[in-house]
Amino acid sequence: MGRDYPRRSRSKIDEQRKVAGITESKNLEEQAISLVGTDIYEKLVKGYTEKQWGRDCKDLPAFIIKRLPVRLTFDNNYFNALYQDIPIGGYARIVENMLKGIEIRLGVDYLEHKVELDALADRVVYTGSIDAYFGYRFGPLEYHSVRFETETLDKPNFQGNAAVNYTDRETPWTRIIEHKWFEFGKDEQGNDLPKTVISREYSSEWKPGDEPYYPVNDEENSALYAKYKKLADAEQNVIFGGRLAEYKYYDMDQVVAATIEMSMSAF
Ligand SMILES: Cc1cc2nc3c(=O)[nH]c(=O)nc-3n(C[C@H](O)[C@H](O)[C@H](O)COP(=O)(O)OP(=O)(O)OC[C@H]3O[C@@H](n4cnc5c(N)ncnc54)[C@H](O)[C@@H]3O)c2cc1C
Repeated sequence: MGRDYPRRSRSKIDEQRKVAGITESKNLEEQAISLVGTDIYEKLVKGYTEKQWGRDCKDLPAFIIKRLPVRLTFDNNYFNALYQDIPIGGYARIVENMLKGIEIRLGVDYLEHKVELDALADRVVYTGSIDAYFGYRFGPLEYHSVRFETETLDKPNFQGNAAVNYTDRETPWTRIIEHKWFEFGKDEQGNDLPKTVISREYSSEWKPGDEPYYPVNDEENSALYAKYKKLADAEQNVIFGGRLAEYKYYDMDQVVAATIEMSMSAF
């Protein structure tokens, strides 16, 4: 479609939607075409979505991209946020600083040592999976998973950017992360780094026992979560928080906001 002015883009999208004859979107493909037209759907949405979900866009429900942010502006950021950044030194550094002077035990499964750990505090904030907490008694909640292949390259620059997405169907990975560009590619003394580390990210099937990444908020899983949530609400002195315990997709800013809100109301 090329670069064009908002008004012309709007009418082009409307025209493509008309040609496709979509009045009410019955699947993801129709929903995407009615939002962004055929050209952008073919180039940006189709291959990427089919890789992510391992299914044809015609076989995916429309609701998945109902909230796809579409703006007819020259702002090429993905998010609409006014400010976008990550903490200096990354999230590990900010969390380390917040927890300075506090006893931390790593590599301990809370559920395996629940009785002993519960005895240490009046209240517990649980950030693990809600279904695991209740011994999967109603069955496991489903997740989408991703797999990373990480490589260190003997060159200072691979792609000049922290994340590059591959929207075509043929490339097997969905994106490549080049970690150094989150920190402007310098070491702590501000020197350029001679090497670079990249991670290719692949969409992957999830089965119980795998690392849970993205919740599947379809009807079935939402109903299952509601059953676990009922049990969680009745649990004394345990606060269920975060993406796993609330079975909800959170971005970092949202999870920080939710934590602040929760701590203000719970303590
Ligand atoms: C692949 C991927 C990419 C992402 N990219 C972005 C991005 O670009 N921008 C953005 O804003 N957000 C991104 N996010 C989202 C971001 O990572 C989350 O919002 C954030 O990590 C949620 O924090 P949390 O505390 O809820 O969960 P987590 O960070 O998952 O923390 C939960 C903690 O609980 C621990 N835990 C679980 N079970 C137990 C147990 N039984 N015993 C002891 N400990 C336990 C886990 O080890 C973990 O440390 C991404 C998420 C994923 C999966």
